[in-house]
Amino acid sequence: MQNALLDTIALEDAHTSGAYVKRDVQIVRGQGARLEDAAGRSYIDCVGGMGAANLGHGHPAILAAIQRQAAELMVCPELFHNPVRAEYQAALCAAAAMPRVFLCNSGAEAIEGAIKATRAATGRPTIVAAMRGFHGRTLGALSATWNKTYRAPFEPLLPEVRHVPFNDADKLADALDETVAAVIVEPVQGEGGVIPAAPGYLRAVADLCRQNGSLLILDEIQTGFGRTGWLFAHQADGVRPDVLCLAKSIAGGLPMGAVLLGERAGTFPPATHGSTFGGNPLACAAGLAALDVLVTGDLVERARERGAAVLDHLRAHLPERAVRDVRGRGLMIGIELRGKVGPVLAALAERGVLALPAGRTVLRLLPPLVISDDDLWAAVATVEEVLSDAV
Ligand SMILES: *Cc1c(COP(=O)(O)O)cnc(C)c1O
Repeated sequence: MQNALLDTIALEDAHTSGAYVKRDVQIVRGQGARLEDAAGRSYIDCVGGMGAANLGHGHPAILAAIQRQAAELMVCPELFHNPVRAEYQAALCAAAAMPRVFLCNSGAEAIEGAIKATRAATGRPTIVAAMRGFHGRTLGALSATWNKTYRAPFEPLLPEVRHVPFNDADKLADALDETVAAVIVEPVQGEGGVIPAAPGYLRAVADLCRQNGSLLILDEIQTGFGRTGWLFAHQADGVRPDVLCLAKSIAGGLPMGAVLLGERAGTFPPATHGSTFGGNPLACAAGLAALDVLVTGDLVERARERGAAVLDHLRAHLPERAVRDVRGRGLMIGIELRGKVGPVLAALAERGVLALPAGRTVLRLLPPLVISDDDLWAAVATVEEVLSDAV
């Protein structure tokens, strides 16, 4: 086992692109909110596939849908109609209360689609994004992403992108003019440090967009599909986006992305956008199953209740000498530390809990929404232990 572990790490390190910084853990299988390493050790998963595993690992409804559809038809470009795609598009549009959807394969690709759609619809070039926002790593999406480390090696990026402070409607108003096609924000900034939109902020952004003839793009790639205790986080704020970007947990763990288009965003002019794998029946079948689990089951409500209880508990019990702030919505939880998060992640892994950073000082927990109460509270207790030890 030990040799297999070393072989895998050496082999991957020898051939990987270099883009990823990896931990010395080799994950071989998962079930629910548990992950198992090559030595047979079980971990409580608070990484949740970085947001792609809201339904957990090996969910039976997703497995059954994938197996059935894989045998029926996997590849079918949108040259042709397909019944699974038709059913999925209708179900997703109904769930999001948006009339139309473009299906793609990842979050960054959904952001690219949103930028193109809003430019085409308004005839304007500029995109306004938020400081600390994260929207992906392809060149257009990267232009809207704030983090300098991700951007610097690849500049120049799109020149027509402006960044304004998050949660500051006055600064946004100052940045709007007749060149602005769209404003893009996350309802809870994920990679930027788990920072929820302040009450009323999204409403103000939506109003400012409308007054300026600009479109509102909400990036719910991480916040969508039950994560925050709502099917989509913006439902808590009572706003309606013009464009809604989705990916990560959209298809129960299979790669897929979506750009939902509201009335003001209209439609793409024919033949101006596309994707070979976009709308493939395999992803659509998985998406349909994932949506059904979330809409008919109690996972979304569970995320809201358990998330609120965990936040209350952490706020009351985490030591102030180690922790600056505890934030989040639903089961999207951020703990801002006074020190670096790296050693905390390592200590958690040693005690059987895998978790995420969000920047250098924020510990982020994104457990699958199917996590059992026992595992959830065990993970919370381990976080408390580790942060009480760390001085
Ligand atoms: C992960 C993420 C993206 C990018 O998605 P990919 O599938 O990795 O391209 C974009 N926006 C947000 C908010 C994300 O969390």
